[in-house]
Amino acid sequence: RNSAEKFEFQAEVSRLMDIIINSLYSNKDIFLRELISNASDALDKIRFLTLTDKEALGEGDTAKLEIQIKLDKENKILSIRDRGVGMTKEDLIKNLGTIAKSGTSAFVEKMQTGGDLNLIGQFGVGFYSVYLVADYVEVVSKHNDDKQYVWESKADGSFAISEDTWNEPLGRGTEIKLHLRDEAKEYLEEGKLKDLVKKYSEFINFPIYLWATKEVDVEVPADEEESSEEEESTTERTEEEETEDDEEKKPKTKTVKETTTEWELLNDMKAVWLRSPKEVTEEEYAKFYHSLAKDFGDDKPMTWSHFSAEGDVEFKALLFVPPKAPHDLYESYYNANKSNLKLYVRRVFISDEFDDLLPKYLSFLMGIVDSDTLPLNVSREMLQQHSSLKTIKKKLIRKALDMIRKLAEEDPDEYSNKEKTDDEKSAMEEKKGQYAKFWNEFGKSVKLGIIEDATNRNRLAKLLRFESSKSDGKLVSLDEYISRMKSGQKDIFYLTGSSKELTDWWKKALDTEGIDSVKISNRLHNTPCVVVTSKYGWSSNMEKIMQAQTLSDASKQAYMRGKRVLEINPRHPIIKELRDKVAQDSDSEGLKQTARLVYQTALMESGFNLPDPKDFASS
Ligand code: ADP
Ligand code: MG
Repeated sequence: RNSAEKFEFQAEVSRLMDIIINSLYSNKDIFLRELISNASDALDKIRFLTLTDKEALGEGDTAKLEIQIKLDKENKILSIRDRGVGMTKEDLIKNLGTIAKSGTSAFVEKMQTGGDLNLIGQFGVGFYSVYLVADYVEVVSKHNDDKQYVWESKADGSFAISEDTWNEPLGRGTEIKLHLRDEAKEYLEEGKLKDLVKKYSEFINFPIYLWATKEVDVEVPADEEESSEEEESTTERTEEEETEDDEEKKPKTKTVKETTTEWELLNDMKAVWLRSPKEVTEEEYAKFYHSLAKDFGDDKPMTWSHFSAEGDVEFKALLFVPPKAPHDLYESYYNANKSNLKLYVRRVFISDEFDDLLPKYLSFLMGIVDSDTLPLNVSREMLQQHSSLKTIKKKLIRKALDMIRKLAEEDPDEYSNKEKTDDEKSAMEEKKGQYAKFWNEFGKSVKLGIIEDATNRNRLAKLLRFESSKSDGKLVSLDEYISRMKSGQKDIFYLTGSSKELTDWWKKALDTEGIDSVKISNRLHNTPCVVVTSKYGWSSNMEKIMQAQTLSDASKQAYMRGKRVLEINPRHPIIKELRDKVAQDSDSEGLKQTARLVYQTALMESGFNLPDPKDFASS
């Protein structure tokens, strides 16, 4: 086209597209889910704009917030159209090609190490999955603030944008036209598309229509039968079986099947969270979780809580504990404003970037909050300040902690179950080990909560689990520990660290170095480790003074032993490398030697004297 402007894809985007085009990934279905999810996002956006600007919605068909799917079998084109917010020319250039999102390179990296393409939506690059099934894609889009444009690309490193002077005007919204590859012809089958929408897009809150053929019963005069066969007819007709009614009563008409085409609604748009918990099946909850999390694996959520709050502030909420912690949960924990809660006001999606619905330590929860109390026609900024949010947050925290506590209560491995009857116990058998699983994935969040949330500290403390010296590898709660304490025991001694193995190895490697304990430290930045004296031990100065005294070697040793603590920085490259190697061969003498060198360097830098080996020779 003459007026087309050409653009190069940003380098990372281009690599991503190459990977997708050449992918042998067999589950190509996912592209449809990604396109419908984008259409739904665009509809959410225009609906939100309409709250404060009634004009934005438009009139007639343009105002219909819906998604339409159409097949053109002859030309092998599958089109998905929405009446969402649309894209301006600038949006098309930025969003579909020239600006890489943070997820782009992360996803490319994942793919190169055998990651699952299914997770593409989580990385914010779902659109490009169209190239799993198409070799040429057109995006026609009309935004309220601009003319209608066409974006097109054959995934050959570049895309073109032209002002649209030939397609039907969209009014507003976006139509994606996929020119399907030969191997992807199955997506021209209506049945296939219906199945896919059912499977992946059941929970989309806007109607999804398919331009579908349909057989309808039509009454025709019975004597038309013969002549109709001779007529040139474009509609297909098949004869109904004769009824056994006797001749005389038989009307002079008969029923034939005719094929017509019409918009067929594929989803029922019942918002799961508005339904009564009694009516929602476990499977529906699991499927809803998958669509929320953009994670379509087989793992079910660990648990969920579905409730409604009444009183001054009314809202419904559905919270999920995911099956696994996301890979970046604790990276940039204090900087990122990441929330996985979607906020709705009276079924209208408002935002999934509200900072203050849940405290940071609960940011691993996924879910939805839908409030009737919050006002609809104010900006996000004003909503963010609304006093009801504090109440909502408070209730959400309580419910979240209750939900986690129940995970433990229902787990037969847990101490708290000792008072359950045998029947109750057998009913809980399938929940065996679920709390330990939770603790492994999210235990750190509970610990962070203890630090951050003074109000709920007692509730959180009940959720803590530790390995104790007597627990034989099992996790115990504080209550359980205390109930087993010997009478007269006043103190609880504890070791800290993110993993017992990582510190055990160091203790062994430094066995001859006179060290009491090793712990993982989060306060270090550029040093691999430091040596400190434990609370009741000596400072390095004190140690020097003691060494100058005329004490017997044996008593020096007694003093020195059990006083020094080695703090290790788990993020330091030396420590990381060592840890990786130890994981492969924990008995290696060479590695132990390295550990001793690292320790001795830290010892000198911390102002301690190097221990005289003979001090410890007898140990
Ligand atoms: P994500 O949806 O996670 O942002 P995608 O790769 O699926 O990532 O989409 C990229 C961007 O392209 C979207 O953020 C949006 O700005 C734009 N976009 C894609 N599809 C549409 C659409 N149907 N209507 C409006 N904008 C769209
Ligand atoms: Mg998307």
